[in-house]
Amino acid sequence: MSDTAIYLDNNATTQLAPEVLAVMQRAHEELWANPSSVHRAGQQVRQQIELARDQVAQLIACKPREITFTSGATEANNLALRGISALRKGRRTILTSAIEHAAVREPCEQMKHEGFTILHAPVSTDGVVDAKALAALLEQHADDVALVSIHWANNETGVIQPIEAIADACQAKRIPFHTDATQVPGKQPIDLATLPGVSALSLSAHKFHGPKGTGALFTRSSLRLTPQIIGGPHERQRRGGTENVSGIIGMGEAAKLAKAYVESNGPNRVEQLRDRLEHALCEAVPEAQINSLHAPRLRNTTNIAFPQLEAEAIIILLSERGVYASAGAACSSGSLEPSAVLLAMGIEEHVAHGSIRLSLSRYTTENEIDRAIDIIPQVIAKIRQSMPPPPPSEVRQSV
Ligand code: PMP
Repeated sequence: MSDTAIYLDNNATTQLAPEVLAVMQRAHEELWANPSSVHRAGQQVRQQIELARDQVAQLIACKPREITFTSGATEANNLALRGISALRKGRRTILTSAIEHAAVREPCEQMKHEGFTILHAPVSTDGVVDAKALAALLEQHADDVALVSIHWANNETGVIQPIEAIADACQAKRIPFHTDATQVPGKQPIDLATLPGVSALSLSAHKFHGPKGTGALFTRSSLRLTPQIIGGPHERQRRGGTENVSGIIGMGEAAKLAKAYVESNGPNRVEQLRDRLEHALCEAVPEAQINSLHAPRLRNTTNIAFPQLEAEAIIILLSERGVYASAGAACSSGSLEPSAVLLAMGIEEHVAHGSIRLSLSRYTTENEIDRAIDIIPQVIAKIRQSMPPPPPSEVRQSV
C-alpha cells in the first residue's frame, strides 16, 4: 500500500503490527520443528505455542486450556455451531439473528437443510438485537434450543450487542451461548471472568494487527465440543492438523499488544478521530446520515449513508483518491446488492444502497482524518454532478 493511502477499512483487516512481524519472522527462521515432536526442537516450538495460548487467554480473561486455535473466525464459528449442537442430542433449534456475519449466517442456513430450525431474534432499526425478545423466544423454545449465537459487535455498523443480558438469559435456561467477538479485541475489554453465561467465543488475529489465517475458539471448560476437522490429537482433540506455528505465535503477540492498548485507553483517541470525521462529514454533506448513531458502537467504526447514491461508486472514486473504505461487508463487495445487515435492520433500500463503512485503527493518524474530511465530500459532490437530473414527474411531485 502506498505511503499516502488513507486506510479506513480496519474492520475488513488490519495492518500487521511490526512487533508481530518480528516474532513471526523468528518463528519461521528458528521454530520450524513440529510441535508434536518429542525431541527438544519440537518441544521448544510447543512451549511457544503454549505461551501464545496464554496470551490469547489473557486477552479475554479465560483459562489457556479453553482456547482452541483455528484458521480464523470463520472456522471458529463453524466449529462452535456444529461442534456444540452435535452434542445436544434431540435439540434442533439454533437461536441467532439476521445481522450475523456470513460466517454464522451461512452455516446456519446450511444446517437448516439438515433439519435444524433457525430462529432469528428481532433487531431494532439501530441494529441492536432485542435481548428481551430473545429471552422470550428462549423461554418459548427452551426444550429445543441447542445453542444461541449472537455476535458481540457488528462488523458493518460497529453496534455492540447486549451480550451480558443475552448471556444471563442463556445461563438461566442452561443453554450454551456462542458469541462471535471478532470485531472486539483492541477496541474494548473482553472479560469472560465476569460473563459466566458466555460458553463459546470466536476470535480472528487479523482484526487486531495479527496475521490472517489464524483465529481461536474459546469454549468454557464445562462445555463439550465435537471436533469438525479430524486427523490427529492436536488442540486437545478439538481440531486436528499440525499447528500454524508462526500464525499462532503472531496471534499471541497481537493479543498482548491489543490488551495493553485497551488498558492504556488507546481507543479514546480513535473514538475522538471517528467522532471528528462523522461531525465534519455530516456538516459538509447535510443529507448524510449515520447508521446506528443512537446505539452503543465500537469506537473505531462509522457507517454513513449518502441516500440516493451508490456506495460502490463512492468506494471506487474514494479509492482513486487514495481513501480505502468499504460498502457493507468486504466479502460482499463487488456485488451491487445493498448490505443484508442494513436491510435486516429495516433501513430503506435507497439509504442502504448509499451506505459506506469507515473503520479506523490504532495506526490511523490525525492527518489522515483531516485529509479524509477534505476528500470524501469532494467525491460525493462529484458523483452528484454526474447523476442525471430527476425525471419530470419527480420534479412535479417535489414542487
Ligand atoms: N465474524 C466477523 C464479525 C467478522 O468481521 C469476520 C471478518 N470479516 C469474520 C467473522 C470472519 O473472520 P476470518 O476472516 O478470520 O475468517
